[in-house]
Amino acid sequence: MNFDLTDEQKMIREMAKDFANEVIAPRAEEMEATGDYPYDIIDKMGETGMMGIPFPEEYGGSGGDWVGTHICIEEISRADVALGGLLDVTTSVVGQELLVFGTEEQKKKWLTPIAQGTEIGAFGLTEPDAGSDAASLRTTARLVGDEWILNGTKQFITNIGLKNASVVLVAAKTSKNMKGNVISTFIVPKDAPGFRLGKKYKKMSWHASATHEVVLEDCRIPVENLLGNPDRGFAQHLSVLETGRITIAAMAVGLAQACLDEALKYAKERTQFGKPIFSFQAVQFKLADMAVNIELARNQYLKAAWLKDQGRNHTFEAVAAKLFASEMVEKVASDAFHIHGGYGFMDEYPVSRYYKSAKILQIVEGTSEVQRMLIGRILKG
Ligand SMILES: Cc1cc2nc3c(=O)[nH]c(=O)nc-3n(C[C@H](O)[C@H](O)[C@H](O)COP(=O)(O)OP(=O)(O)OC[C@H]3O[C@@H](n4cnc5c(N)ncnc54)[C@H](O)[C@@H]3O)c2cc1C
Repeated sequence: MNFDLTDEQKMIREMAKDFANEVIAPRAEEMEATGDYPYDIIDKMGETGMMGIPFPEEYGGSGGDWVGTHICIEEISRADVALGGLLDVTTSVVGQELLVFGTEEQKKKWLTPIAQGTEIGAFGLTEPDAGSDAASLRTTARLVGDEWILNGTKQFITNIGLKNASVVLVAAKTSKNMKGNVISTFIVPKDAPGFRLGKKYKKMSWHASATHEVVLEDCRIPVENLLGNPDRGFAQHLSVLETGRITIAAMAVGLAQACLDEALKYAKERTQFGKPIFSFQAVQFKLADMAVNIELARNQYLKAAWLKDQGRNHTFEAVAAKLFASEMVEKVASDAFHIHGGYGFMDEYPVSRYYKSAKILQIVEGTSEVQRMLIGRILKG
């Protein structure tokens, strides 16, 4: 067994770490406070090649692997987890679905700008009445002549509100069979007739991430914008969401590492009873547990990504990584806040932002209950 990163993966970690420290971290507080989308940072992320790490060079990527991709996402999320979320959707989910299921023409047209970061992708599965039970979606697609006509509302859609987000992959039902909805996936450009951005959500955190409703009212797209097998759209989504789970785990590890770094620094600086609070065993034990759990979560997401790179089954490993890391980060963020005492509640300390950012990682791309249901299915055999 070899736990060493390759030279390329080490280079990605260094590049992403420097970028996170120099470009994102100094702006993270301001981005959270103003809610302005950081277009200059997003453009620079594209220029450094972050959106295209796992894609072949012929489609604008750098021909790297999923371990490297996730190391990059961990480092970016350490500075701002919302930007990790941007990478999750555009690269791990949308870019990958286009790469795996797209025709040559679709890959050239839609994947290339996404891999280069000049355009950002969005993923439209969730609806007002279809969250965890995503297959019960109501959005419909009808083939009329040489166009698909889509009707429905998608909610909580990441990225599509960005001005450089060009496309959303929409899951819609085309018919019903004995098993339920037959779901297909469509490449829906933002400028398609009948496409409208709905409300922008007011959120507790992740303000650098754009979260909007998408409304499709007789939205017309060309017949060639069907992505993959028309009867297997849902399965296609689920297969890329498996990678999304590894990505959420990497984001959780990055955010948790930021919590530990801040808590450790504070514990060494803050003096009570004539000593730095780090010298109290109760504080040290919290920090020790944080460090152990972060490392376990890191090893788990790296294992899942490595198995994916080997083309091996990693369903359990990806679910376990997402479940463990997202639950871990909530506890780590809470402990980091606690170590700051009353100052943890004050916006001038980053742990206040980290605490607010952590909880949602247990919800996105499948709640902890959904992850446990998936593990239960695997255990059942
Ligand atoms: C910031 C943000 C960004 C998002 N980005 C996207 C995006 O880009 N694209 C997209 O398609 N979606 C996106 N989502 C949606 C996200 O994936 C869903 O919110 C998530 O899957 C949960 O669905 P829900 O919110 O409808 O909760 P529900 O499914 O209504 O769940 C509510 C509660 O019930 C529990 N529950 C539900 N069913 C069961 C069950 N069978 N057994 C036990 N417990 C159960 C859940 O675990 C949860 O605790 C985003 C959400 C947020 C908040």
